[in-house]
Amino acid sequence: MIIVGGGPVGLMLACELGDAGVASIVLERAVEHSAMPKGNGLVGEIVTILRRRGLLRGQKGLHAIPVPRYFFGTLPLRLNPVRPNALRVLPIPQHRLEALLEKRARALGADVRRGHAVSGFHDDGERVVVDVRADHGDYALDGGFLVGCDGAHSFVRHHLGVGFPGTTGDQLVRIGRVAIPAGVRRRSRHVLELADGRTLFLFRPNHLPSGILTLAPVSDLDRGAPADLYIVGTHEPRDGQEPAEQISLDEMRASIQRVLGSDLPISGGQWLRSMIANSRQAERYRVGRVFLAGDAAHVFSAGGSSLNTGMLDAVDLAPRLAAVLAGAASVETLENYHTVRHEAGRQAIVQTRAQAALSAQGAEAEALRQVLGAALRTRNPHRYLATLLIGKPTRAPRR
Ligand SMILES: Cc1cc2nc3c(=O)[nH]c(=O)nc-3n(C[C@H](O)[C@H](O)[C@H](O)COP(=O)(O)OP(=O)(O)OC[C@H]3O[C@@H](n4cnc5c(N)ncnc54)[C@H](O)[C@@H]3O)c2cc1C
Repeated sequence: MIIVGGGPVGLMLACELGDAGVASIVLERAVEHSAMPKGNGLVGEIVTILRRRGLLRGQKGLHAIPVPRYFFGTLPLRLNPVRPNALRVLPIPQHRLEALLEKRARALGADVRRGHAVSGFHDDGERVVVDVRADHGDYALDGGFLVGCDGAHSFVRHHLGVGFPGTTGDQLVRIGRVAIPAGVRRRSRHVLELADGRTLFLFRPNHLPSGILTLAPVSDLDRGAPADLYIVGTHEPRDGQEPAEQISLDEMRASIQRVLGSDLPISGGQWLRSMIANSRQAERYRVGRVFLAGDAAHVFSAGGSSLNTGMLDAVDLAPRLAAVLAGAASVETLENYHTVRHEAGRQAIVQTRAQAALSAQGAEAEALRQVLGAALRTRNPHRYLATLLIGKPTRAPRR
């Protein structure tokens, strides 16, 4: 069993296969784990699964938390009345998650080869022969199946010629870590007060006339981080600009200035870059003996669902492959992986697009936030919406 990509999805697949008694080889292009901050946490079913697998046992500060409140786009969700409250989060920086998964995968028998890049493969109907580039020399490897967990720009997907239709965002997102010094005060867990007395929400988008500004203290996610270190993000109209893997502190400062309408004193600057949020799904998750999972199969335009959906692909695929390898199921049954997980990906695309629409700029998105936000605060959202149509002035329900 050959897995391309040692990100969270590839490593999760190696763990799940190991649990099912199947040894795998994980080919990972990068020599070291990337220190680039990516995800800050997991949300959803995968949290419960990781806890059940024992991944969190003995890990300081790692708890699966059932959340009483969460956000759908910008809409606050009150989950206390929902019993049992099934939505759990696990705050964990992605590099720590990857390190934990890699350790577990190796302990379960996976052969994780770092610095080994896949440059070609051929499925002859019985085996998949893979070309690998490594420092000590190129080599070929063959396995019964190949799974591409090699990220959004997946080589495996391109080599298969599988389409990746969807939409490209019209906003340029600038993101990174900066120090926000004294003069800007944290007024409460969720509110930051600027020197001019204005307040900004932490952890959720601040919609401002020229764009969106998001701020989150790193120390709330990573205990060892300095108190003045923040993850900062801005969204502005793309206007034909291309994303860049590195941007300057001055570019970030200027973007914040445009969005906020005033200066925010920032310094330092780590991992500053710009991105476009795409929403795309691979047309097929299986071609013969080759599979796609994680970002190779889907990317979303709103945060929070990528790791959950991708790692659940791995949870679904592993027992199917193990059953075929054990002779308990036919190769044809693997088509069910495509059927089940493509539908799960489609649903995630729809709900994340809805979240992106709720988080968008402009008068219509603002109206959507107000009307749906008010409806969700009522006992009977249908009646509330009907009241709006009746047209009698009505008072928006209180929070
Ligand atoms: C700034 C940022 C914040 C994010 N925040 C969140 C969040 O809070 N929650 C969330 O759920 N998601 C978040 N995401 C998305 C999340 O990081 C991705 O969904 C996740 O990394 C996907 O995991 P993956 O294993 O599918 O792919 P990746 O993590 O991209 O891993 C793919 C791996 O394949 C390797 N590879 C590629 N090509 C080859 C090759 N030819 N041969 C060998 N190896 C190869 C790469 O080196 C890489 O290690 C965030 C992303 C970013 C950029």
